[in-house]
Amino acid sequence: MDEIITRFPPSPTGYLHVGGARTALFNWLYARHMKGRFILRLEDTDMKRSKKEYSDAIIDSLHWMGLDWDEGPYFQSERFDLYKEYIQKLIDSGNAYYCTCSPERLETIRSEAMAEGRKPKYDGACRNRDLGKTSNAVVRLVVPQAGTTTLKDAVKGNIEFQNSELDDFIICRSDGTPTYHLAVVVDDITMGVNTIIRGDDHVNNTPKQMLLYRAFKNKIPLYGHVPMVLGRDRTRLSKRHGALSVTAYKEMGYLPDALINYLVRLGWSHGDQEFFLKDELIEKFTLKNIGHSPGIFDTNKLLSLNADHIKGKKPGDLVKHLTPFLEKRRCKVNDQASMEKIIETLNTRSKTLEDMADGAMFYFAGDLVYDAKAAKKFLKRSSMEPLKLLLENLGAMDSFTKEGIEDAFKKVMETTGLKLGKIAQPVRVALTGKTASPGIFEILEVLGKDKSVYRLEKAINHINETADIPENGN
Ligand code: GLU
Repeated sequence: MDEIITRFPPSPTGYLHVGGARTALFNWLYARHMKGRFILRLEDTDMKRSKKEYSDAIIDSLHWMGLDWDEGPYFQSERFDLYKEYIQKLIDSGNAYYCTCSPERLETIRSEAMAEGRKPKYDGACRNRDLGKTSNAVVRLVVPQAGTTTLKDAVKGNIEFQNSELDDFIICRSDGTPTYHLAVVVDDITMGVNTIIRGDDHVNNTPKQMLLYRAFKNKIPLYGHVPMVLGRDRTRLSKRHGALSVTAYKEMGYLPDALINYLVRLGWSHGDQEFFLKDELIEKFTLKNIGHSPGIFDTNKLLSLNADHIKGKKPGDLVKHLTPFLEKRRCKVNDQASMEKIIETLNTRSKTLEDMADGAMFYFAGDLVYDAKAAKKFLKRSSMEPLKLLLENLGAMDSFTKEGIEDAFKKVMETTGLKLGKIAQPVRVALTGKTASPGIFEILEVLGKDKSVYRLEKAINHINETADIPENGN
């Protein structure tokens, strides 16, 4: 069997969106599963709409997703000589011809066909005129007017097209630039691509491309057309269904592995399994299990899968993912070991890295700013005694271990007769500024003795400054 060669050929006219990312992913996974090769090619022949900024962003997004390529990135704009050479081959072999029909004539043919309820088609007027190259001449492919072209699709099964539905379509414009079909086919031939997985919006392009392969006497690749990704209301995915670019998900604090896992499941399955790591996908991905119905993009599912991936990752592996989010919040990221400890207290409570960074900010604060409601409710006279006792007990500890911290709390409970809950909330506000946080023992351990002592002292001062009117009862 030949080595499998797949490709991802985005047009850099926008950022990489989730539908395109899924196409890239399927091609990448299949190449990796089959120990083949994966090629990246930027289809930037539309000079007006293509932008370098978009090519760069697409490349960045693929890097971020961890999809690497064995060849490329190729740029179609750098391959015009090759396309010219191949167009000439078709002219020389009698498979293509120059056409000088004026736009007015083409418009007349078109409107006549429409008026008669026929599909508008070029009538082949220049096919046998043996015209040479002139400044107004386009090049058209000779398309057989009878017979069928059968697409043997790896996902959809056989699809038959009547050649009579097609016309001699243009492969080269009068300015010498190739059309999309020509460029794609020449690229896929010269790059050795033999497996093409793409969205089923390309099904109708395929017979034209297959006819080009035939005209070049080249083997037709294996096609697999994947149903599109739709929004929850089953309409074409658009902005109103939520963020669509890969960059947006990166910025919202999604893990690349979670996005990959989610996207792959939007059109492929392996039993009922929902959670996959990348290596497992490479092992299990085949074309056979690509689904036949559209994938429905559901941001809530993606969010919960992201939480599962955050939980499933080793805290040490999350450090590099979390760091940019902390830096954005001006938190000075400490060494790997203390970051790991911080993450251990947050990884089961965070749905995104944004959440996690928000939740981690109190660890980095120099002077905490208390949430006003939390301070009013918990930093009051009645909290003074337990806070002071805890401060004493913690201050007296030599090594600041979890067991020691728990003992310190026990002593406070015994002395004051208060339950842990009553003590923990004021301590939580003292240490984090808020009423919701990871477990209090974990926090103390991560903060360490000096910071913990400092924050308890500060809370006591705060009570002294703000709560000088004795409270009655609570
Ligand atoms: N550049 C085309 C697109 O972005 C892809 C062409 C193909 O997959 O053959 O839709």
